[in-house]
Amino acid sequence: MIKETLLALQQQIQDCISQSSDSDRAVTLLAVSKGQSIKKMQEAIAAGQRHFGENYLQEALEKIAHLQNQAICWHFIGPIQSRKCADIARHFSWVHSVDRLKVARLLSQHRSATEEKLQICIQVNLDEERQKAGVSQEECLSLIEAIRPLEHIEIRGLMCIPSAQLRLEDTKKRFQELRTLLETINHKTGLHMDTLSMGMSQDMALAIASGSTMVRIGRALFGERDER
Ligand SMILES: *Cc1c(COP(=O)(O)O)cnc(C)c1O
Repeated sequence: MIKETLLALQQQIQDCISQSSDSDRAVTLLAVSKGQSIKKMQEAIAAGQRHFGENYLQEALEKIAHLQNQAICWHFIGPIQSRKCADIARHFSWVHSVDRLKVARLLSQHRSATEEKLQICIQVNLDEERQKAGVSQEECLSLIEAIRPLEHIEIRGLMCIPSAQLRLEDTKKRFQELRTLLETINHKTGLHMDTLSMGMSQDMALAIASGSTMVRIGRALFGERDER
């Protein structure tokens, strides 16, 4: 069941890419497994899925321990508290939700020098809602300049979560804004950020049409999540 859904999603992603203006691009499917069982994850792994995204550290650590013999690339995509940075830096390859310098410093500090650098995306808040996570567009460049010298971190790109309440047209506008922001910052800094982490189950096609290179898919792959 998961296998068929995964194949259908991959096909859908390919179709979206070939219909887009940037049809040579690769788009990584990140399977968002928060609130999903190990059994479902194992089905996805057996079907070839390699990238998994988790939001809650405790849940993630249990799954990482359980699946330690599998070749999985773990992505942390949830809100980050300072006291969790050590564990996140040790157990994940990617972090998509970095939005302040303090967190980036702690992640770098706790990343082992013998491992590959921690791959990060900066989460940008395009809706300017006060409560929401993410740095504003205006402050994104200076945050990146501040994070850039950190030794054990590699800045790979930008991530956004547009409000689910937006109309499609406005969601599309947010995705395009994130893409423009990435290009502008690359140009100004000489960085070669290559990742636009955008698009979830409900807006995947729109995100790929707007230049996404990594879509974060939960319910469309695994079904509804368990209550937490
Ligand atoms: C839960 C979550 C997703 C996946 O959402 P779906 O609607 O299940 O695809 C993607 N990104 C983030 C940051 C999430 O928290």
